[in-house]
Amino acid sequence: MTFVDDNLSIFINPKIVEKSEETNFYKELCLSSGMMSADIERPKWIVMEWMDEEGVTHKEKFDGFLARLYQHEEDHLKGIINLDRACNSIEFALFDPLKEKIRDTRY
Ligand SMILES: [Zn+2]
Repeated sequence: MTFVDDNLSIFINPKIVEKSEETNFYKELCLSSGMMSADIERPKWIVMEWMDEEGVTHKEKFDGFLARLYQHEEDHLKGIINLDRACNSIEFALFDPLKEKIRDTRY
């Protein structure tokens, strides 16, 4: 379940079935790790399959912020949190998360 821009979305048994080789970077925050953020490299786009609450199967490509969010949430289903994926640094989130942008390169 995600809540983005006032829209609640439900994904039952989501599965990422394809990922880009190209990656990007973003400092991710998570309720599971409190004030700690982790800079994480992830594929730029994904193709995800899931079922909706009516039992209909969907398959769609996502990029940008949604690709990142769904990868983050799919990790949770496998017991992985942002800190497990930190590629550069784990730090206290003293920055404004609303100003954080997806980057093509490491710092
Ligand atoms: Zn999370």
